[in-house]
Amino acid sequence: MRRVSILGATGSIGQNTIDLIARDREAYEVVALTGGRNVAALARDAVALRAQVAVVADESALPALREALAGSGVAAAAGRAALIEAAQRPADWVMSAIVGAAGLEPGLRALEGGAALALANKESMVCAGPLMMRTAREGRGTLLPVDSEHSAVFQALIGEDIAAVERIVITASGGAFRDWPLDRLDNATPEQAATHPNWDMGQRITIDSASMFNKALELIETREFFGIDPSKIETVVHPESMIHALVGFHDGALMAHVGMPDMRHAIGFALHYPERRALPVERLDLVKLGQMTFRPACETRWPALRLAREVMAQGGLSGAVFNAAKEVALDGFIEKRISFTRMAGVVEEVLNRLSAQTGLIDAEVTLDNALQADHLARAKAREVMAV
Ligand code: NDP
Repeated sequence: MRRVSILGATGSIGQNTIDLIARDREAYEVVALTGGRNVAALARDAVALRAQVAVVADESALPALREALAGSGVAAAAGRAALIEAAQRPADWVMSAIVGAAGLEPGLRALEGGAALALANKESMVCAGPLMMRTAREGRGTLLPVDSEHSAVFQALIGEDIAAVERIVITASGGAFRDWPLDRLDNATPEQAATHPNWDMGQRITIDSASMFNKALELIETREFFGIDPSKIETVVHPESMIHALVGFHDGALMAHVGMPDMRHAIGFALHYPERRALPVERLDLVKLGQMTFRPACETRWPALRLAREVMAQGGLSGAVFNAAKEVALDGFIEKRISFTRMAGVVEEVLNRLSAQTGLIDAEVTLDNALQADHLARAKAREVMAV
């Protein structure tokens, strides 16, 4: 039996992972399931999967979790330390699907423990890519991408030499506002931004798709994961979301990963890697699809893409600053304190101000330094937003 843990089990990726594991229940021993504060879903799945332990990040939810798990044999725990402890429990495969920089340390600890880490939490690579790659390289664990674009690139590179790669093209749906006139964007609401044309995802990543901050994070993640020069990374708007990414080689060949937008493909690929097993995803009917279209990704409409280029050029801890400022700006937008278009302005200002601070961006990418950069950037973003 394979020992598996799911960090962020109650979210969109977590639930898709549970769907796959529950279909082949006897093949897995579930070690830990974690959630933020959704006790009902966490307890339901922990009991159904007979997990060793269920952990909520929010300590005030512990009494409710204990009550929901009473008599089930599943241990209940809460708080940051319990979350880290759960991530460190010996497991063969761990899904890292907590949203935001909060997912960095739990995922890193699981990787250090020798697990194969299925990484949905792109923020880990944005905030501390060199540290994640170093930890995996030092042989303590295996890192497998779960973001659909990076899974696509990973699959296109199997058996290939990275030195023969000329370019990597990351596709973007364009999100909720891709066809809106620019002058309407200022008045866009969180409810409108949280509606994705193709993918069914958590609220935060869906809004990040509308602003393209999600794509910006993915460009940085591509750079970190595949160690490729930023000049070779492109993005193109592909409204149908059927091609997830393309890899171009020196001989002119362009290998595309094509399929229905269903995260269970990328999750299942990472779960069974290096094998390819049958997955319960709808098969793409090319004739029914008829055509696929592509448009340039405009940096005036989506300034987050330009900021991602700046972050890739700067390197170091600029990704941690970028992500933290983005998370605070996103909270501000969700809480209707700033407009949709102001988010990019806040992030740019924080990046500019902290880049000027000696030694911060250039410090070595360690967990402590990444968490410190994250902390400073959050404080600076709140300051910028208060003005
Ligand atoms: P969701 O918002 O749906 O789920 C997030 C999960 O993290 C939930 O289990 C949530 O718990 C938990 N959580 C939230 N805050 C904390 C915290 N501070 N500490 C511990 N746990 C916390 O997100 P998604 O599943 O959409 O995304 C998860 C990650 O995967 C993100 O990094 C995202 O970018 C990435 N990703 C997602 C894709 C998708 O299709 N959804 C596609 C590709 C990547 P609770 O439910 O209790 O609040």
